[in-house]
Amino acid sequence: MSTPMEITLQNHQEPNISDLENGVAASAPPILNEEKVLVSVEVCLKPSSTARIDDVRSSVERMLEKRSLSYNDGPIPVPLDDPFLTENVQRIRICDSDEWVQNHEVLLFWQVKPVVHVFQLSEEGPCEDLSEEGQLSSFNEWILPAKEFDGMWESLIYESGLKQRLLRYAASALLFTEKGVDPFLVSWNRIILLHGPPGTGKTSLCKALAQKLSIRFSSRYPQSQLVEVNAHSLFSKWFSESGKLVAKLFQKIQEMVEEENNLVFVLIDEVESLAAARKAALSGSEPSDSIRVVNALLTQMDKLKSSPNVIILTTSNITAAIDIAFVDRADIKAYVGPPTLQARYEILRSCLLELMRKAILSSFQECDQLILPNYATMKEKLNVPETQEVQAPFLLCKQLLEAAGACEGLSGRSLRKLPFLAHAALSNPYHCDPGRFLCTMIDTARREISEL
Ligand code: ADP
Repeated sequence: MSTPMEITLQNHQEPNISDLENGVAASAPPILNEEKVLVSVEVCLKPSSTARIDDVRSSVERMLEKRSLSYNDGPIPVPLDDPFLTENVQRIRICDSDEWVQNHEVLLFWQVKPVVHVFQLSEEGPCEDLSEEGQLSSFNEWILPAKEFDGMWESLIYESGLKQRLLRYAASALLFTEKGVDPFLVSWNRIILLHGPPGTGKTSLCKALAQKLSIRFSSRYPQSQLVEVNAHSLFSKWFSESGKLVAKLFQKIQEMVEEENNLVFVLIDEVESLAAARKAALSGSEPSDSIRVVNALLTQMDKLKSSPNVIILTTSNITAAIDIAFVDRADIKAYVGPPTLQARYEILRSCLLELMRKAILSSFQECDQLILPNYATMKEKLNVPETQEVQAPFLLCKQLLEAAGACEGLSGRSLRKLPFLAHAALSNPYHCDPGRFLCTMIDTARREISEL
């Protein structure tokens, strides 16, 4: 589960023997100095900042060295006594350390080597391809990291490991290419296929992954772009034009890729339309040049494979229908399923916390996180002997668990809409306490499911 975990990074000093004997470090694995855990620290610059990335990085590194405070995986306050950082930095965040920390183990600061990534969000928005009159545009282009995708990675909640697996896979693929590993000896390519039911966050995950990688690899690739291909428009009814569209699209991508400091992500959504087009051509119900378009696309993708700085991200809602020629090309095929109970709890919890932050639901101010704890903490709190009453503050998370249970069968997309639908169903939407809201949300979920 990739929710913020309560990890503590503290005391930037090596442990002494008595600490070890006292069991201070007993819960964490004994890590030798040279085996420190690499933890990413992402630093987002203010849009107005013109500071040099290297200067900000060194400043943050110095700041982290000095710190001897405890803090959780998540935001670190920008130090107010550092005018350079306050002027230039919007936020600092510790990311993805949760994969090292299980069951509330404590990761001590001496075990950690922070890796600082500094970036500035692009505010340019998508640059749409202006196709000829009457046609759907065939692609959108984004400069990464883009403001629109900010926070997307953190908002996507999956069973443990999926996001990390994708991140590590892409990192290994880029490293192998960078080091020039002989593809005849070790074969790999840079194509990822996410498949599963609609609304499970596949497209968002691809975009969020591209954004993450653009931040993590910014030292090697100072520029990154995402090209979002609209497969539907490529295989639209204008088949006679499709060949031209594919050629135009890949010519554009090729130009981007030739710049070796560019990291290029190509996202092809709903690749099953490739298979549909080919099948339709074979059955004679579509013009036969559709098959040429599919083949052209596959050939172009193969050509791109030789470029080290491209990652192709694809999604499909129906695994069985994906063109077999395509499936073979993908290195990592990850199934993205409907959210589990734990994921549903965390998705709804993040919605509720947001509504409390924005004062749509009455809030307990600083206590919101305590009253609505994450799944692991909630399980602990609720796991009291049958005879003992659940304490009042935890009634809310008990209700939230009930809501998550009632939402079985809903996709991540429907879950994120549910609080809105529940709010619209309230008799008095202006003064709403979270408990009453949760009751309405459970009713709304039951109604939504009955209408599936
Ligand atoms: P797909 O491509 O699988 O149809 P999308 O990427 O279009 O799904 O998902 C739509 C929205 O649904 C996402 O932007 C996100 O808000 C929400 N969503 C889906 N799955 C999840 C999830 N596992 N965790 C959090 N939000 C999710």
